[in-house]
Amino acid sequence: MKLLIHFFLCGILVVSCARQDSGSKESTISGRPVDQVFMAAERDTVDSLTTEYIMGKFEPALDTNFILVNIKHADREGLYLRKDTYAAFIRMHDAAKESGIELVIRSATRNFEYQKGIWERKWNGLTPLESNKLATTFEDQTERARQILKYSSMPGSSRHHWGTDIDLNAFNNEYFGSGEGKEVYDWMKSHAIEYGFCQPYTDKSQGRTGYEEEKWHWSFLPVSGPLLERAQRLLKDTMIQGFSGAEQASSLHIVNNYVLGIDTTCMLRSPLN
Ligand SMILES: [Zn+2]
Repeated sequence: MKLLIHFFLCGILVVSCARQDSGSKESTISGRPVDQVFMAAERDTVDSLTTEYIMGKFEPALDTNFILVNIKHADREGLYLRKDTYAAFIRMHDAAKESGIELVIRSATRNFEYQKGIWERKWNGLTPLESNKLATTFEDQTERARQILKYSSMPGSSRHHWGTDIDLNAFNNEYFGSGEGKEVYDWMKSHAIEYGFCQPYTDKSQGRTGYEEEKWHWSFLPVSGPLLERAQRLLKDTMIQGFSGAEQASSLHIVNNYVLGIDTTCMLRSPLN
């Protein structure tokens, strides 16, 4: 199992390093070459990450695995990513740019408290759902949670806790259906995996459960793959608590239906699966 993951990580690294040679030379993080940061971060094995980490119960700004995203890659200040993920993103960003594609990070790491804010504003009707309805119009609490879960995770169960997942350019699928947005999505579908990124929330035609399609959400598989396997082992529905509506986690089988309800391209193949 560990050997398989190691093999997979190295495979991605080889592809990424080869790309770096032929790509832009100026890519740096805090003045250090991207490869240096990337390789250093890879040495922090995913196996050492705790359930608290998986559930987003930490402060990215104080965690040495994380780094502040440069404003030239994002639409605002104050976003954090894992260093390995950010290094891979910069490579992908620079390659996309050479093809005339602009990738802009709209959201990155969100810890438990941040996600709790998003969830509870929807739960209490302060922020409308994507359908423009208020969640409070659904009196049945299980249905209310299910409506929010179309596009938002319960705190403790979001991939955005992991520092490996990013939202790019626009939070609606229509944007990616034509013009500039379609060019971005087409480029990502063809090239993102060369830099280690996959799309977890594809359309649900293949029987995937959980969240609706999100063409903006991409995940750094060399780290999120092992983290998903870790979440599968360690995370239980009963651990998802500490916010309004949390009592619905078990009946909706959050871990099985939502955390694991992703596209198979974002899963590592291993004898355990
Ligand atoms: Zn997202």
